[in-house]
Amino acid sequence: PLSIADPLPTAGRNTGYSYGSDGSGRYLLHNGLDMADEADNLAVAVADGTVIVARGDQEEMFGWRCDWYGELVVIRLDESWADQPVYALYGHIKDVQVSEGQRVERGEPVAREGTAGVAVVPHLHLEVRVGSNTFGATRNPLLWIEPWSGGGIIAGRLLDPDGRAWEGVTVTLIDRNGPAEFLNTWTYLDDPDHLIRPEPALAENFVFGPVAAGNYDVYTSIQGVEYRVPVEVVDGQINTVEIVTEPFRTPTPQPTATP
Ligand SMILES: [Zn+2]
Repeated sequence: PLSIADPLPTAGRNTGYSYGSDGSGRYLLHNGLDMADEADNLAVAVADGTVIVARGDQEEMFGWRCDWYGELVVIRLDESWADQPVYALYGHIKDVQVSEGQRVERGEPVAREGTAGVAVVPHLHLEVRVGSNTFGATRNPLLWIEPWSGGGIIAGRLLDPDGRAWEGVTVTLIDRNGPAEFLNTWTYLDDPDHLIRPEPALAENFVFGPVAAGNYDVYTSIQGVEYRVPVEVVDGQINTVEIVTEPFRTPTPQPTATP
């Protein structure tokens, strides 16, 4: 991926609704990264580019349906990736500072997080789209935003022995450096339109980050078997980890009692 700037560096990330998850069945499939900043700061341009969308989507479909993002901005970045155009989308925003056709530089104010469209609490929904400015062309923004200093990203694969990705499985990151702290995420869900796209070079199906540099274990439990694999996180890097599980077992039907 390109290295893009963090649009809201002081904001917290909603880790309960990660890219490729459905928030444990509560929401529709998530194709972006949610960040919320109590300070109500202005989100900034992630890179130099041109604003190609700065309007409401009440009459036009950009997401799952009309009025999904409410107000949105899309910047087409000057830099391309693997000969493909790259777009950054800002959704659920207010106080938009840019207009269509305008050039922006990395770090320039774009808009404030808001509750426009389908958003209950104020937050910024950021998407990275590669190849085309469409809903099905997203990638995991955590792999594109440069990690803060003192931290790195973990891109993981949770696969069966045939190389098939496990979907919607809880994966836990356990810190081996200090007190027993942990983080959870979920492996990517697929859908008929394949809206969730791993990076071709990484083929990841879960991501943690950024986390402080150091030694961690990635843990998961599938069909009663526990897996725990170490991973070292290096500053400013995407660190990879792979877990290959036992084969999928079709659950054995339990004999039912005869009345
Ligand atoms: Zn979102």
